[in-house]
Amino acid sequence: MRSLRASLTRACNFKCIFCHSEGMPKEEDGLLRIKHYEVISQAFKLLDVESIKFTGGEPLLRKDVVEVVSVFSEFPDVSMTTNGYLLNDKACNLLEAGLKRVNVSLHSLKPNRFAYITGTSPSSFERVLTGIKTAKECGLRVALNFVLLKGINDDEAIDIIEFAAKNGFNLHIIELHPVGKGAQAFSSLHNQLDAVKRYLEERSDYKRTRDLHNRPQYYINGIVVELVEPVGNPYFCAGCTRLRLSPEGLLYPCLNINDIHVNLRAIIDKSESFEEALENVIDAILYLNDLRKPYYMWNLDFEKKVKIRTKPPFRSWLPKRAKLQFRRSHTNTVKGRDEERLRNSPSRG
Ligand code: SAM
Ligand code: SF4
Repeated sequence: MRSLRASLTRACNFKCIFCHSEGMPKEEDGLLRIKHYEVISQAFKLLDVESIKFTGGEPLLRKDVVEVVSVFSEFPDVSMTTNGYLLNDKACNLLEAGLKRVNVSLHSLKPNRFAYITGTSPSSFERVLTGIKTAKECGLRVALNFVLLKGINDDEAIDIIEFAAKNGFNLHIIELHPVGKGAQAFSSLHNQLDAVKRYLEERSDYKRTRDLHNRPQYYINGIVVELVEPVGNPYFCAGCTRLRLSPEGLLYPCLNINDIHVNLRAIIDKSESFEEALENVIDAILYLNDLRKPYYMWNLDFEKKVKIRTKPPFRSWLPKRAKLQFRRSHTNTVKGRDEERLRNSPSRG
């Protein structure tokens, strides 16, 4: 699936022990506005992107979140990952705006433990559960995200599978990644998903591999439990078709790569009409897509071992253009080791 992961804000009202959080927003200058999202949405639509995921920070902190979602309503798959704290108020409006499914983070079923993990008060647990219930009643498809943390919630993996099955929610069990605060906490809190995997291998009715990230999916008790194991996993990267958009409009080829990006906001602001902005944004996306490569590649013979997508998604999952018209005025939006490459590119207009 060709997908865009768009962060709507860097701010968060939670302080999870394993996640980087920048606190509540003070001002929103610098964030992409609706007019920018309209161009970006149209560009991704013309490039046949299928899946849009809104995330953060906490996406529901954006006051105009419903309006942003509505700009992307025509994509086949529109989803959001949220901590659920503000979901009760917004779930039904989000559904009406075009959201199809929601992933709610629920790292414990014990209120005090939930509060410890998320840096909130125990009452937030009930509030998140209410949000989940409302989302389900409105008609949103709900899945849960559970990050497995050594010595903190690793005794709850079976409980969360049973809870998800009882309520008809799919479940993502996620390995801690060494990003943000997760990098400092990694050595003490990281836990392989091996024990959970053994449990699922023994009890599930059916197992398949999802295209996105080659994630294993287990069908058990009427739900799908998906394991998210990106750390040091070249097969995960081999199945990646995601681009990442920051709240300020920087488009990156990968969650883990920060030194290559194009500035879509600057490109749109410099354009004189919607049509010009659209053309320039499409060129920038194609340019960036051409810089994709797997983040984890060690020990992997791509030609022999990974029959899956040896070429796409890393180079050609978007339609080829005869000529890439990436304009001179935009070259300062490309940072890092590919600057030289862009300067020398024969395809520059
Ligand atoms: N604030 C929202 C939330 O918590 O669901 C959305 C943003 S959060 C960055 C997206 C997902 O990534 C959440 O399920 C969160 O638990 C998970 N996450 C955050 N930091 C992580 C880390 N270092 N390792 C693994 N998962 C992480
Ligand atoms: Fe906030 Fe989500 Fe990070 Fe927790 S995981 S601090 S809720 S952004």
